[in-house]
Amino acid sequence: MVKDDCIFCKLANGVIPAASLYEDDAFRVILDANPASKGHALILPKHHYQDLCELDEAIGAKVLNVAAKIGKAMTDGLGCAGFNLVQNNGEAAGQTVMHFHVHVIPRYEGGPKIAAWDPGAVSAEETKEIIEAVTTRL
Ligand code: 5GP
Ligand code: ZN
Repeated sequence: MVKDDCIFCKLANGVIPAASLYEDDAFRVILDANPASKGHALILPKHHYQDLCELDEAIGAKVLNVAAKIGKAMTDGLGCAGFNLVQNNGEAAGQTVMHFHVHVIPRYEGGPKIAAWDPGAVSAEETKEIIEAVTTRL
């Protein structure tokens, strides 16, 4: 399914031209318009899924292979020293475009710093609570 008012549906399906790195029957990979580092790319499924929880299983099974292919080509072609995959689900997690996508962000020696989280702490009691809350819903 394609959503008429979705910018990523349009970019993924070539309705709006994009700086495209890769395309197959299920995905298009484009350069991010506001890159965190040189080569920052977005893996877009051609069908519309709002987020990871909506994603079709077959598409989900393929997406990491596409990420690996892109990451290897970035390492060889752009000379990055590593790369991050980032995938945001929900506004609270930083998702701004409500069409599932995976960021592939090349990382360079001495390159731009990319914010991570401050490591926290967790008690034994909270660990038990978390395990109970999650595992009973799987
Ligand atoms: P999110 O915050 O939803 O995980 O990431 C959305 C990403 O899409 C952002 O990094 C933003 O720069 C990028 N983006 C938003 N609109 C466009 C667009 O029209 N073209 C391209 N190439 N990237 C976009
Ligand atoms: Zn869409």
